[in-house]
Amino acid sequence: MPKPTIRTVAVVGTGVIGRSWIPVFARAGVETRVYDADLAQRDRALEWFADDLMARRERGELKKKEVKALRDRVVACDTLEEALAGVGYVQESGPERLDLKRAIYAELDGAAAPEVILGSSTSAIDMTEIAEGLPGRARCIVAHPVNPPHVVPVVEVLGGRDTAPEVVEATIAFLESVGQSPVLMKRFTPGFILNRMQAALIREAVDLVASGVADVEAVDVCIRDGLGLRWAFMGPFAVANTNADGGVAEYFTRYRPAYHGLWAELNTAVQFDDALVRELHRQTEEMLGDDRADQRQWRDRMIEAIRATRAKLPLGGARKKARGKTKGAKGRPVKKKAHQQR
Ligand code: NAD
Repeated sequence: MPKPTIRTVAVVGTGVIGRSWIPVFARAGVETRVYDADLAQRDRALEWFADDLMARRERGELKKKEVKALRDRVVACDTLEEALAGVGYVQESGPERLDLKRAIYAELDGAAAPEVILGSSTSAIDMTEIAEGLPGRARCIVAHPVNPPHVVPVVEVLGGRDTAPEVVEATIAFLESVGQSPVLMKRFTPGFILNRMQAALIREAVDLVASGVADVEAVDVCIRDGLGLRWAFMGPFAVANTNADGGVAEYFTRYRPAYHGLWAELNTAVQFDDALVRELHRQTEEMLGDDRADQRQWRDRMIEAIRATRAKLPLGGARKKARGKTKGAKGRPVKKKAHQQR
């Protein structure tokens, strides 16, 4: 991992998402100052972080002195001012309500030194609205992770109307330098990129069950043992590129009429009432059992195992064993692409 471009950050708001940002920064060597308006919640987040480290220690993933170094890098703060002391970046993860985001951003903008970048984990709110009227709106930016960010690296980055281009660049560079996988959004759209795609797929999954085409398990198996196996390391365009000898151009030219036909036929008004939700729940528990804590742990460890496999087998590695650094045309090392790094 490259050296972090910013050495001290504040994590503000330590619920499900905020707490999971703590290991992202700490394991990259960044001093991580932790604050929540509810100090008991901050303490629970620190306990969660310590428990996660101990579990990794027990599995042999971390040495004792690494655990100590990680813990020493994380600083519990009692006030926002204390949390902001000496930081270069803030990851705000307060509640998802425009009025509360606006209040937190007003506080942050008033208290943070002018050069500090103010990143928000918001899943859906436009930074133009959150930072409206703030003197420091040029340094405010969306950095939306996927739950949990210490396991899933993608972060959607999006400036508001007044965000400075250099803030966008510096945010992307910083997130990359701590091992995340930032993607730039060129403009606001509801749901951003990831949740729009997820919503399109969930709509179809629900409708297939609701309309009696398939049970929950059949739908899940089609993703788990079908599409999802490729999606764990390729996106839809990369998959299309390998589905025809002539790549994306041939695949989409050949199947364009079929896709047009299906798109016209997809149901946009899915029945999604309480009875259906109960039935989806029943069938899902029949498939997986009801120990969701165990399922979450399994999910996180499987994601880590998949990422470790991806790192060992970069593109090109299937035909020849990758040896050392990849060489460019003139023998110079070339910058690795995102899919080769993680
Ligand atoms: P959460 O309710 O679990 O946590 C919010 C935390 O903010 C609480 O601990 C609360 O005490 C704290 N808080 C409230 N006011 C504060 C203030 N003025 N200063 C500091 N802390 C304050 O919420 P969450 O699920 O962790 O979501 C946090 C953000 O991350 C939201 O914007 C959400 O949209 C986004 N997000 C959530 C998910 C997810 O799956 N939960 C995924 C991606 C992004």
